[in-house]
Amino acid sequence: MMVLTKKMIEIRNILQKVGQSSSLTLPSIVVIGSQSSGKSSVLEAIVGHEFLPKGLNMVTRRPIELTLVNTPDSTEEYGEFPDLGLRKVTDFSSIQRTLTELNMAVSEAECVSHDPIHLTIYSRNVPDLSLIDLPGYIQVVGQNQPLQLKQKISELCDKYIQPPNVILAISAADVDLANSAALRASRRVDPRGERTIGVITKLDLVDPARGAAILNDKQYPLRLGYVGVVSKAPQSQGLFKMGSSDLLATIAKNEKSYFSAHPHEFGPEAGVNVGTLNLRKTLMRVLEQTMSSSLQSTSDAIRQELEEATYEFKVQYNDRPLSAESYLAESLDAFKHAFKQFTEEFGRPEMHELLKSELDQKVLDLLAARYWNKPVTDLTPAQHDLDNLADLPKADPDSLYWRRQLDASTSALTKLGVGRLATTVIASSLQAHVDKLLANSSFANHPFAKKAITEAASTILNERFYSTSDQVENCIKPFKFDIEVDEREWSQGRDHVVTVLKKELQDCEAALASLEPAVGGRRKLKEVMTFVDKARKGDITVEGDGRSGAGGFSAALLAKGREAVFLRDRADIIKMRMMAVKAKQCSNPKNKYYCPEVFLDAAATKLASTAVLFLNVELLSEFYYNFPRELDLRLGRHLSPEEVEKFAKEDPKIRRHLEVIRKKELLELVLEKMDSLRQLEGRDREHGSHA
Ligand code: GDP
Repeated sequence: MMVLTKKMIEIRNILQKVGQSSSLTLPSIVVIGSQSSGKSSVLEAIVGHEFLPKGLNMVTRRPIELTLVNTPDSTEEYGEFPDLGLRKVTDFSSIQRTLTELNMAVSEAECVSHDPIHLTIYSRNVPDLSLIDLPGYIQVVGQNQPLQLKQKISELCDKYIQPPNVILAISAADVDLANSAALRASRRVDPRGERTIGVITKLDLVDPARGAAILNDKQYPLRLGYVGVVSKAPQSQGLFKMGSSDLLATIAKNEKSYFSAHPHEFGPEAGVNVGTLNLRKTLMRVLEQTMSSSLQSTSDAIRQELEEATYEFKVQYNDRPLSAESYLAESLDAFKHAFKQFTEEFGRPEMHELLKSELDQKVLDLLAARYWNKPVTDLTPAQHDLDNLADLPKADPDSLYWRRQLDASTSALTKLGVGRLATTVIASSLQAHVDKLLANSSFANHPFAKKAITEAASTILNERFYSTSDQVENCIKPFKFDIEVDEREWSQGRDHVVTVLKKELQDCEAALASLEPAVGGRRKLKEVMTFVDKARKGDITVEGDGRSGAGGFSAALLAKGREAVFLRDRADIIKMRMMAVKAKQCSNPKNKYYCPEVFLDAAATKLASTAVLFLNVELLSEFYYNFPRELDLRLGRHLSPEEVEKFAKEDPKIRRHLEVIRKKELLELVLEKMDSLRQLEGRDREHGSHA
């Protein structure tokens, strides 16, 4: 029959993992008593080791849920703190230190905490028991202790002494039972004394006759009776640590000599239950019986809980199986698949387009700086020429000025650091694409994986950055000295630059239009612009300083006016240049000096094409090859099961899904174990009745 408690304790541990549902708790023995009633001494005698916190200042501030596991086949004795991940602590003074630290971590102000410490002790010398040690009741609140302390301890104990738990009520023989805090508390929750075992400690401190009288007490009758003990640890204990279970042996020996010295009071005929060994046996028997009688109700409760979990699994999750590992693997596969798709869509042409549009901007800047910012009379057609585009004025090809302008512009373009620029553009674009893929993947809800993936990308890109940038810079070097543009390239450049200018014109006009509401309408803007124009031509004198404004316009308004005038002039120039580019003169590469837009566009295209060739080899292919491998490395097999679990639970929906499955599995396991236990028990009972 003794296997029952062991099995039930196993089940109890599994149930603890399922989570908080009070209906699922299996009975434990709850130890209560006043401070100094000898509670720790009794517990330590049962375990056979000193391991509880000692000290004058209230040392037990948290419940200690103590599980004793009998290991008959092993000589090893050790404790484990599952919550702390502390395994196989063989030194009991180290267990004592850990318990002291855990208790002291509860601040004086908080006084007691309801958060239990879980400790399991494995030994061939302990019985299978589950015990809960609670802070001792206090009579008077100490000087440095908060007033509510008494109340708080009482509340904590009340929580634990509820059914189906067995109450181990410790009272010292040298204190009147009427004053026993433990018995008083027990009577409140167990008025008929059905699940309380009374323990009378310090029997050696009272006259034997008086001791025997207490044990025979009729005033506070307990169905499970009283057990008298003398469990004071021998003095040598602190100085010379004893070997395994010597403590119990010593105490038992002491008790034997004390009780046998008073056979009349404590002998077999006296009809009292005494001795720590007896107490241990009583505890085992009572716990076993309690467990056995709660078997049915607990398995009913578990069945109900399981039904609820099964229902939730079906309704919420469509019975879809899931594990943290499978979730990670699926997410990773889906992400790699999306990435693969992206690699098919982003190649040389896309890189070229990105890079070219970046260079287009640079070309526009150069043109603005060198050509469009001053009156370029012989480059820009006069108004009457626009009516007859064939007659556009020509920049004299032999003019040194226009040669220098174009040479300087070309040189500025080729020397702007194309290698660095190109690599930056592509690397940032790749990183941005990875971010976009991430945002659309199931990793979006996982900070840990998101970080790992972003880092995987940036690591590869950073590693390749300098060599790629150098390579590209090297390869465009020839263009720094000479750029040959053939007819085909020229005409492509011409077509393309018209599109670019058109876009620039649109931007300019949009910016101009956006100023209207900012100054209070189109008319107002026109007025300010007219004023700015006149002032520029010197037709009117601007009074007042720049800050306070002039002509009845505020400084802010004037600033907007100047901006508008700039944009309008820029738009006019672009319009003219577009016409110039479209005109016949610009159809021939020979006229490059007065068609700088076309020439620079063609040059930019050459730079982009060459850069892309090398970017493709040095950066893109490398990235496409290494990125999925880097992902496997960071999120694949080398993650520990705990890390995988942690990852999966970052997503609240997945967390809940996993928890339901786990709960269901654990409950199924527990139910199976309970059913077989009940069968076993049924057989035992049958056996018993036959015998
Ligand atoms: P707790 O505060 O209830 O845990 O009480 P302890 O177990 O720490 O015991 C309080 C004091 O009583 C200690 O000094 C013990 O040595 C002493 N003590 C405990 N049990 C006995 C006993 O059976 N006989 C005697 N004489 N002293 C005891």
